Amino acid sequence: MKKKVLVLALSAVIAGSGAAMAPAFAAGNGPDVNGNQTVQTAMLTTYNEMADFLKKEAAKQERLELEVIGQTVKGRDLFLAKYITNPENPTILYLTQQHGNEAMTTEGALDYIRHLGSGSKKVNEMLDNVNILIVPMLNADGAMGDVNFPLDNYMASGRHLTRFNADRVDLNRDHVNKVTPEVQALHQNVLQKYKIDYMIDFHHQGTQEDYFGKLTTGALLTPQSPDVAPEVALNSKKLATVLYEGVDKTGWAFLLKFDEPTTNSAVASNAMALQYDIPVILFEMRGMADHSYEPYVLGQKSNGYLIKQAFLAMESTAKAIADGSIDSADPSVYDNLPEQHYSY
Ligand SMILES: [Zn+2]
Repeated sequence: MKKKVLVLALSAVIAGSGAAMAPAFAAGNGPDVNGNQTVQTAMLTTYNEMADFLKKEAAKQERLELEVIGQTVKGRDLFLAKYITNPENPTILYLTQQHGNEAMTTEGALDYIRHLGSGSKKVNEMLDNVNILIVPMLNADGAMGDVNFPLDNYMASGRHLTRFNADRVDLNRDHVNKVTPEVQALHQNVLQKYKIDYMIDFHHQGTQEDYFGKLTTGALLTPQSPDVAPEVALNSKKLATVLYEGVDKTGWAFLLKFDEPTTNSAVASNAMALQYDIPVILFEMRGMADHSYEPYVLGQKSNGYLIKQAFLAMESTAKAIADGSIDSADPSVYDNLPEQHYSY
């Protein structure tokens, strides 16, 4: 009985958003692997394809500058895609695929880079008022399954993708010690080099996070360390509200608060706030591209929605920073989001 009441209460909260009219098949209720489909990774952008794409776009797009910020353990160049019209403008950093098997985040970033080069008046006006930094596929070795440990028990057929870097280190636990070349590159050549006002760290979670039976398409979390400066915490919540509203208005997305609030200062969402006073959010999207544990792996049928969701997360936040509307975003929208459940 109690469960039903809570479901109804949530329905009331989201009714105005159009979520009640979500199509029957969306990223949230799309199928997980569940023994019914093979997991294909062949359609995912490879590292080499990404590098070629970025170089081509940088040659074509006047406003885009591409910088190599370092190399992975296996020697792959790590890229920073920069749109800096005026150094005085506010700057946002989008980071994807610290975990190599969380791939739609990068696909969304590449779509967004293509969009930023569209030449449309609206996009160019936005780029006059916000600087955008994008570090896609930070864990390029893990994304390509080119690692110094076996992945034989992973689910995907074809190319494997893994959370860890080539030396089996979790990059998103390395932001204090900074032992990996990938995290060193990010800190030395991005975080310590540019004045960054906002950041979103893009990830994927499992496939079964839900709210009383309704699967989420994603989850948000602001820095949880008690030592984060109050203003940084507040601006993180405003950023979360802008992302939530930008994605939620599609009607098919279902975002809640992430259910594993960690105060670990070595994860990016806390580390960036603590070390650089950057308002930051962790954005977790549904389902991983590959893993040894089946309930984490989402089949490719939801890829389109998830790529769009990552794209919208970037588009809505960059716009709100450019036009200043982020300043009046209501942090209580984020505060009042229920926490998703983790049902495994
Ligand atoms: Zn992750």
